[in-house]
Amino acid sequence: MTKIMTINSGSSSLKFKLYEMPEEKVICSGNAERIGLPDGIFTIKYGDKKDVTYPAIPNHSVAAKLLLDSLVEKGIISSFDEIKATGHRIVQGGKYFSKSVLFDADSEAKIESLIPLAPLHNAAHLTCYRAFKEVLPNTPAVAVFDTAYHQTMEPQDYLFPIPYELSQKYDIRRYGAHGTSHNYLALEGLKYLEGVEHPKIISCHIGSGASITAIKDGKCVATSMGLTPLGGIMMGTRTGDMDPSVFNYVCTVTGKSPEEVYQMFNKKSGFLGVSQISNDSRDVLEAVEKGVETAILANDLFNRRIADFIGQYFVRLGGADLIIFSAGIGENEPRTRQAVSDLLSEALGVKINKELNAGLRGKEALISTKDSRIKVAVIPTDEEVMIARDAYEICIK
Ligand code: ADP
Repeated sequence: MTKIMTINSGSSSLKFKLYEMPEEKVICSGNAERIGLPDGIFTIKYGDKKDVTYPAIPNHSVAAKLLLDSLVEKGIISSFDEIKATGHRIVQGGKYFSKSVLFDADSEAKIESLIPLAPLHNAAHLTCYRAFKEVLPNTPAVAVFDTAYHQTMEPQDYLFPIPYELSQKYDIRRYGAHGTSHNYLALEGLKYLEGVEHPKIISCHIGSGASITAIKDGKCVATSMGLTPLGGIMMGTRTGDMDPSVFNYVCTVTGKSPEEVYQMFNKKSGFLGVSQISNDSRDVLEAVEKGVETAILANDLFNRRIADFIGQYFVRLGGADLIIFSAGIGENEPRTRQAVSDLLSEALGVKINKELNAGLRGKEALISTKDSRIKVAVIPTDEEVMIARDAYEICIK
């Protein structure tokens, strides 16, 4: 029995889970929010209890100390030494990392050098890693990259058709994201494909951020997000792929700076931008039910983008054995799953069980009918357990 902590940090938040490994048992989980603001929120869940407090959390070091102290206070651990390793989610691993690694001076420097590619994320991850190092100086830490799983793509799948010397000089390419989730989904999905030779999976991680990955023999061959998570399908607030000249044209006609337009494409587009209602699919779908035109348009655009990518990956893989829906929308929104399946039915022979799908939220199930040409499953994702597994594998085993 070994205690491993997984850490998923943002610029103002720090989510954690404490695992008993190798049993993969979650002992407790929680979240420090509004770090750096005067009114912080600290939540910790253990057993069937949930405690919420509102301490000031001026920085990540205070957050790390706060959470470790509260584990001791609640008798969850007797001392900090009980935590044998930490696993940190890192959004951008660039060209350097095709698997998880131990944090050391070299990996830390490489993660730092990738900050320009993921300014908010990688900088926050490093701040958080350093905060934990201060509190747990002798505990090994592992970096688990969102991009690592996608490093098996071929150049035809990851290169952009810009002047080659630029791609080479500045490492401009498709890195993808949500790799830890797609890797988990591939492993879970393979359970439905026993006996299938060279299994082909299309996994749809559809949350506020959303990406689709084509997986052959358990390995990523193509993924929808690009240099950054702005690429691919339409999302809560991001555009996804579009004609690059839109960028230049919007700058020209609005007089906004490239940075302002870039922020608009990241934070004010997608569901929010088209519907002009909300970035949350629940609000948009509620408006769809009421017949609001912009909501209908946003929703139709969203579903079509997903179906288009599935079609593209069906060709890329030479077929598909399983389509997986996951993440906030994929796990919880039957209307999106039904609409996407309907868009796929004529060309790909996808059929799902309407009643089963309609009642399914947040649970795993095979929702395709027996005569569907491709199996369709809903699988709740679990990025944290993948982080805990890698931390255990690298530091303990
Ligand atoms: P991210 O991790 O990218 O922030 P999530 O995977 O948590 O996103 O997904 C968030 C989105 O999932 C929400 O914006 C909402 O549209 C949708 N969602 C979450 N829970 C539900 C639910 N119970 N029913 C329907 N949609 C949901």
